[in-house]
Amino acid sequence: MKTRILILGGTGDSARLIPQLSALPNVETIASLAGRTPKPNIPSVGQVRMGGFGGVEGLVNYLKTEKIDLLIDMSHPFAAQITRNASIAAQEAGIPRLLFCRPAWEQVEGDRWIMAADLDAAAALFPGLADRVFLTIGRQELGAFARVADCWFLMRMITPPDLAELPTGDVLLDQGPFDLVKETKILQDYAIGAIVSKNSGGNAAYAKIIAARTLGIPIVMIPRPLLPESEVVSEISAVVQWVQRQL
Ligand code: NAP
Repeated sequence: MKTRILILGGTGDSARLIPQLSALPNVETIASLAGRTPKPNIPSVGQVRMGGFGGVEGLVNYLKTEKIDLLIDMSHPFAAQITRNASIAAQEAGIPRLLFCRPAWEQVEGDRWIMAADLDAAAALFPGLADRVFLTIGRQELGAFARVADCWFLMRMITPPDLAELPTGDVLLDQGPFDLVKETKILQDYAIGAIVSKNSGGNAAYAKIIAARTLGIPIVMIPRPLLPESEVVSEISAVVQWVQRQL
């Protein structure tokens, strides 16, 4: 009998992990993607499913129906809802769960970070901090900035926004990884005075942090949400070792 592993993913990390798990003897992988982006990180091997499960109950049903043996949560560090659901569902289904969380970015010399508890607190900093702002927070929570007066926003996201009320400014559709030369050019071309970023960690979105450091531009940084108590690893190799211990 093969060990069936559900990987909550869609991240580049999950796409890199899955071929390594598939190479283990008697292992079958199923990658689960939220299905929000037009060009998702589809792993090169194993099964793939798309879309929500229908809350905790739906996920428990899925784990039982599909006879899942292990659950690996490699969702985005800010995708707290699916992580909470996974924690409860794995307990209810009685299967082991591992949370992969890539390390958060740390401030280094030259960085001008302003910590904001959440996006509402970040929005309250404008236009005082700057009147031309680069929002790199995705599309779902742009509403927090919609009522900021006397400010212009460059809003980068993967798919177009579907909010009734958008902040004043331009939408830039793009998907990482982003490179330093282009990030620097964006900050200069749009005369950006501040960036708002979630502390996603990882390399794919780090170039803007370096570009801001070089140009002396402040970054309003949103810390990660609280996640349920979990066994956590931050390296792909540690996920593979965890699976090997479970087999
Ligand atoms: P979420 O709030 O944790 O999840 C919302 C719902 O989406 C879940 O309850 C689940 O629906 C479904 N879902 C999420 N991930 C799934 C997966 N891997 N497989 C199946 N269903 C999944 O996550 P989110 O809505 O994706 O994002 C929340 C925050 O994270 C946002 O702030 C977003 O900007 C950020 N994020 C950023 C990136 C990025 O690349 N920068 C990527 C993802 C998320 P059911 O309850 O129906 O199961």
